[in-house]
Amino acid sequence: SRIVVAIDGHSGCGKSSTAKAVAAELGYAYIDTGAMYRCVTLYFLEHTIDLFDADQVSKALAEIEISFRYNDELKRNETYLNGKCVEDEIRKMYVSEKVSDVSVIKAVREDMVAQQRKMGREKGVVMDGRDIGTVVFPDAELKVFMTADVEVRAERRRKELLEKGEDADLSRIAENFRSRDHIDSTRAESPLRKAEDAFELDTSEMDFQAQVNRVLEEAEK
Ligand code: C5P
Repeated sequence: SRIVVAIDGHSGCGKSSTAKAVAAELGYAYIDTGAMYRCVTLYFLEHTIDLFDADQVSKALAEIEISFRYNDELKRNETYLNGKCVEDEIRKMYVSEKVSDVSVIKAVREDMVAQQRKMGREKGVVMDGRDIGTVVFPDAELKVFMTADVEVRAERRRKELLEKGEDADLSRIAENFRSRDHIDSTRAESPLRKAEDAFELDTSEMDFQAQVNRVLEEAEK
């Protein structure tokens, strides 16, 4: 039978790295739904789509094909947009600074949610995002809501970006997290919120392995 682990929460609190490790441990698939919204954003930017033009938006959505593949050499999951690996591009600041504006669009969310439900249909899956436990899989067997102080999140993200050789201005990163948290949690369409039956995990003072172990502990209940 299908088992869904839904991991939602604020930007940059370690959802995706935790979700990846939990999926590997449980032998489940991992789906990064934030990467999907980032792909749509990258496509919209590249094609200068007007976010307020419903016709342009729906035509663009019909042209977008997103998939995930494992790269054996780099030992990582990679996101593909229309056959091209965009894993590094979608993580850049200029995409992060636009993605929440794209994610408020109803047509975008309907399209992404439909794809996510399909991806989670067959086998065990760990999915991370903002609305997985509330909208995509309200009947998920395990729901985690992750959070952490914005300063801690920004410092962690800065380290990650520096390791990849990207520019990483601490105040720009913190401002982006604050802005996305605000837009994501106040939008009309499936706003970010903790599902009533989600287990809350504040990672401000936890190291990575402790986060993973805590989720695995809940999964075993
Ligand atoms: O998870 P990540 O930080 O990569 O997500 C990027 C953005 O995509 C979020 O800030 C949010 O605007 C949007 N998102 C969403 N719903 C999801 C996943 C991401 O609206 N399920």
